[in-house]
Amino acid sequence: MFLPKLRELKEALTSFFSKPYTSKYPFTKEPYEPIKEFKGKPKFDEENCVGCGTCAQVCPAEAIEIIDSVEKKLRILKINYSHCIYCGQCEEHCITEKGIKLSNDYITAVFSSDKDADTMQIDKELLICQNCGSIIGCADHLDWIIDRLGPKAYGNPNLIAHLQKRFADIPESKIKDKLRREDYYKLFCPKCRHQIVIKDVFG
Ligand code: SF4
Ligand code: SF4
Repeated sequence: MFLPKLRELKEALTSFFSKPYTSKYPFTKEPYEPIKEFKGKPKFDEENCVGCGTCAQVCPAEAIEIIDSVEKKLRILKINYSHCIYCGQCEEHCITEKGIKLSNDYITAVFSSDKDADTMQIDKELLICQNCGSIIGCADHLDWIIDRLGPKAYGNPNLIAHLQKRFADIPESKIKDKLRREDYYKLFCPKCRHQIVIKDVFG
């Protein structure tokens, strides 16, 4: 019983005169540098994210929200850090492999009055079917597919219609009184494009 007490006393004295292992967060002089492999807040890379939504689909905590506005032709991708469990699934499954990355930012405390500080969002242009107004996808996503397909992109009417914009600022042509064969190379959803073909063949 006597010996352990001496050991504890020695430890107490050593600790008293040695530097603390903890830091006085957030009043430290030098901020803590996490290790390279640290899994902190996931962050979008606006340049490399194409707005496909895969990360939101694979997120087990449903921390990534996709908010589409057909009127504004806009997709908002939003990470809610209060839901995130830092698992890294979003980064692992990102189709561009660079659109979202877990950073080494470990500071998750925010004031309850500043809800935006607990989120990160980016905006992407949405492409809408010129006939029915349904969502086709993000403009950046189509660009990404075109770049991967190379000349094969000319096999898809939507990709051709989108590709043409790289070469000239072509004004959007309107559909006349009804769908016609000439509309085939406008931006259409698969259902409306199907209608053009059926109407062209069967009247
Ligand atoms: S790290 Fe995991 S929980 Fe957090 S946003 Fe990515 S997939 Fe969702
Ligand atoms: S490109 Fe990557 S980060 Fe962007 S929406 Fe798709 S999966 Fe998410």
